[in-house]
Parts: sequence; structure tokens; C-alpha cells
Amino acid sequence: MDHCIYCKIIKGELPSYTIYEDDNFKAILDIFPSSLGHTLIIPKHHYQGLFDLGEKESKEIINFSKKIAGVLKEVLGCDGMNILQNNGQAAGQTVFHYHMHLIPRYENDTINMGWKPLEPTQEELKLTLDKIKSAIK
Ligand code: AMP
Ligand code: ZN
Repeated sequence: MDHCIYCKIIKGELPSYTIYEDDNFKAILDIFPSSLGHTLIIPKHHYQGLFDLGEKESKEIINFSKKIAGVLKEVLGCDGMNILQNNGQAAGQTVFHYHMHLIPRYENDTINMGWKPLEPTQEELKLTLDKIKSAIK
């Protein structure tokens, strides 16, 4: 993972605005934030994305993120928060080391998180539902 910027940050080879860290995770400020306080939660181990995380790490990262999210809310007094995580280029992932975004939101801010909703038919919804449901174990 020689070229991974987050691995470099974790190893101390690149600087970061570190908020908090424990043995497994680091919370840093995003240097190109959507809003001030936009935070990245990064595991210290290099996983490319969600599908590479084990069950234990998945639970731990949610708990760690929740702790930091609570502090952001308290300190910044934001009205809401988007928590998002991109997997794959098609989904907007640009750094291929798993990370979660915590984005403080304010009433009347101008951040655009929206998507244009499709208008699927009932049949399309049902077909999609059946495909997904049948794969759940
Ligand atoms: P994503 O598009 O989900 O992969 O998000 C990558 C994020 O990393 C972007 O929001 C960037 O602004 C952020 N980023 C890139 N380089 C750095 C860096 N050196 N320190 C902190 N954040 C960074
Ligand atoms: Zn990495």
C-alpha cells in the first residue's frame, strides 16, 4: 500500500489534522471539506472498501464513528449530519482505503447531497426486491 495517502498519514509520512485515534482507527479533518468539521474516519489497516471489512471491524468502526459524530455535534452545534462512505469509482470513491465521511449539516446550508429519484414501476420494484431478498442468508 505504498501509494495510499491514508496509509502514509497513518504511518506519519504525511501530515494530518488528527482529531483522535485509538489502536485501530484515526479521525482526521478532511482537507477539502464540504463543511467545516467534515471528518474522515479511517481504519489503520488498509481495507479498500466496505466489502473487505470483517464483521468485527464493521462494528468497531460504527462505534468509533458514533463517538466522534457525537463530539462534532456537541462542539459545532450542527443541526444534522450526513454519514457516508463511498465504495468504488462508480460511487465516487477517490481514495481506495476504506473511510467514512462525517459531514456536519446546518439548516439552510447549500451542500448538495441530492440525487434525482427514478420513478420505477411496481413491477421493477418487485423484481428488484425478489432478486435481493432471495440472496439474503
Ligand atoms: P472519497 O471520494 O470518498 O474517496 O473521499 C476522499 C476524501 O479524502 C475527499 O473528501 C478528500 O477531500 C479527502 N482527502 C484527500 N487527501 C486528503 C488528505 N491528505 N488529508 C485529508 N483528507 C484528504
Ligand atoms: Zn491505505
